[in-house]
Amino acid sequence: MPPIETNTPALSVGDAHRDVTALKHALQRNGLLERERELDDTLDPETWTALYSYAEARALAWDEEAFEQEEGGVPAAVVDALLNPDGPLPFEDDDDELIFDDYPDFATSFGDEQWPELSDIEVFDISGEHELKKGKKSPRAPEKITTIVLHQTAVKFGTTKSARAKYGERGALHRRFYNVACHVAALMNGDVLLVNGLRRYVYHGNSSNRFSIGIEIEGLYAGVAGDPKTVWGKQEPHVLTDRLTFAARRAVQYAVEEGRKLGCPIEHIQAHRNYASSRISDPGSELWSNVAVWAVAELGLKVDYSLATKGGRAIPAEWDRLGTVDYRGKPLGG
Ligand SMILES: [Zn+2]
Repeated sequence: MPPIETNTPALSVGDAHRDVTALKHALQRNGLLERERELDDTLDPETWTALYSYAEARALAWDEEAFEQEEGGVPAAVVDALLNPDGPLPFEDDDDELIFDDYPDFATSFGDEQWPELSDIEVFDISGEHELKKGKKSPRAPEKITTIVLHQTAVKFGTTKSARAKYGERGALHRRFYNVACHVAALMNGDVLLVNGLRRYVYHGNSSNRFSIGIEIEGLYAGVAGDPKTVWGKQEPHVLTDRLTFAARRAVQYAVEEGRKLGCPIEHIQAHRNYASSRISDPGSELWSNVAVWAVAELGLKVDYSLATKGGRAIPAEWDRLGTVDYRGKPLGG
């Protein structure tokens, strides 16, 4: 048996260490990390955000700017509190096996005539049903909120037998999004969720958190469709269906309309990729070309094609014919 580790080195985003696996298990027990994620020993950005939420809840010190820029390491006190909890372990409900294939995969496309207008897609408001764990308590000033940021969740969400028995299949699935760091979510089953009020400060998009509305679109998609090397975790990506595409468009339309009603001057749509080096494939070519390009044409939103802030990369030509860089972020024809 290996000796028990008592001193974890300072862990930064991208680092691999066996304690990271233990930290992920502890975060899952605290309801701060999605349970579908493979628990390898690499400190991925989702884990980084979950660690910060845990630190905030326990009032453990962590510089906010360093967290949002994914700079520096996880404070030792945070690692220590998670790996050596002195209180009782949090109660674990729903610990039976997660089921991923009990709601339809919709792998086939639906024609427009089989699918109602976007305005008929209902938005389920679940924002009042849960605490905001991955964000700040006080809301943002509406005049500061200008931008929609698109994300892929990089996982398909499953439900448990006990949750389905208690809440029904749809309700169980919606509850899985309580701790997803976003404002609006578009689901593979075609549902749209308001997860957190649009003025909430949510940790979804690194340096864009203060001025953006984060939209998470369910599923794992390639950075560049057809190139397996650009898929997060080298897994098999999902098939983007019309059903999900329409839900995602409806999510953007809802965020723009409802945000403007709240006084937010929303004019731009960008990708998480623009704001963090760790998110090169987020949301990926298929979601960008089917959702953001649509929003530019139909909703009149603008894209800053050169935007690449704090290690992020600009929108690439593989996603959008107006892109001026390649997937790696290198200027074209340069
Ligand atoms: Zn993202």
